[in-house]
Amino acid sequence: MQSSIRLGRIAGIDIGLHYTWIFAVVLIAWSLAVGYFPDVVPGLGVGTYWALGIIAALMLFVSVLLHELGHSLVARSLGFKVDSITLFIFGGVSNLGSEAPSARDEFLVAIVGPVCSLALAGLFWLVCHALPSASASAALFAYLAFVNLLLGVFNLVPGLPLDGGRVLRSLVWGATGDPRRATVVAAYAGQAFGWLLIISGFARLLSGDFFGGLWTAFIGWFMNSAAESTRHDLVQREAFQGVKLATIMDPSPILAASDLSVHNFIFDDVLQRGYRALPIVDNGQLVGIVTVADAKKLPRDAWPTTTVATIMTPAPLRTVSPDVDVSVAVALMAESGLHQLPVIRNGNVVGLLSRGDIMRFLQLRQELHLPSRGTPPAATAKAAATIVRF
Ligand SMILES: [Zn+2]
Repeated sequence: MQSSIRLGRIAGIDIGLHYTWIFAVVLIAWSLAVGYFPDVVPGLGVGTYWALGIIAALMLFVSVLLHELGHSLVARSLGFKVDSITLFIFGGVSNLGSEAPSARDEFLVAIVGPVCSLALAGLFWLVCHALPSASASAALFAYLAFVNLLLGVFNLVPGLPLDGGRVLRSLVWGATGDPRRATVVAAYAGQAFGWLLIISGFARLLSGDFFGGLWTAFIGWFMNSAAESTRHDLVQREAFQGVKLATIMDPSPILAASDLSVHNFIFDDVLQRGYRALPIVDNGQLVGIVTVADAKKLPRDAWPTTTVATIMTPAPLRTVSPDVDVSVAVALMAESGLHQLPVIRNGNVVGLLSRGDIMRFLQLRQELHLPSRGTPPAATAKAAATIVRF
């Protein structure tokens, strides 16, 4: 998940906010300011209730951040690349660079989140009891203890994308030695739990609790779709297993020289031949790649007088070998946001892989109902696109 607002770095990890986070803070602050605080500590002013509501909502998100830092720091100590943490409407996500290579690592990274939340619940509970009872500050810490307990327990529900789903996955993986089966089991469990929340949400909605019911159903819908997309990602990765890049790339892409004009690139290669990108080669060496997107940035009247070398992305480029699995190239494209990858052997361009090639391969495979083959090499599993963890 991409952050909309960057907050800064903690222990070298980027911390950011997704725009939906604002809604969550406002909603939580509002419900506390008009409901919880006036009930528990009556007799204060409206402004005080709102201040308490806002402080409590912000401290809730500090708690969520600590939960995510737990995941990220344990992941990093086990040797994972940790990209960032994003706070959003349903809590927080840690963006890790890769999947856990073993069931043990998966278990450790997953379990630390709920452990952090439960520890915070205990800590806030102690603070609450040290404060004078029936005071506003005691009510604040009682709320924080309660929500952290809820966070810890909810996250232990054994279904993806929750931490409990990761724990379940690690246990099935450890017991069967089959990470794929473990993912499918944990994803179906997550979808089932998602449906359960949707149904109970609608039941609450019909019984008159409009807001609470809608919110529960919304969380259920989110969980169900996240679990489903985890399963689809897996199926897609399976489709690529054992398939070499050489079999789906364009093996004879047109190579352009750096003095080709942008005008000729667009009118001959793009419009007539249907290419969206060309590798630029001088004296047999790859010097860059030019795409339709590059040309679009240039005013049209400059096309005839500008060479592609002026607007191309110059070398060094991200390239792949024709002998790698397609999944490695897919992960590289997803990670870098590229639409084309030059395929290189011994310094020579031997092909070009585009997103279109990958889509065609997937569509044909689905149309022909081809089974997946082979088992994933360790490198494939490691190169999986950035995964998200709650
Ligand atoms: Zn978590």
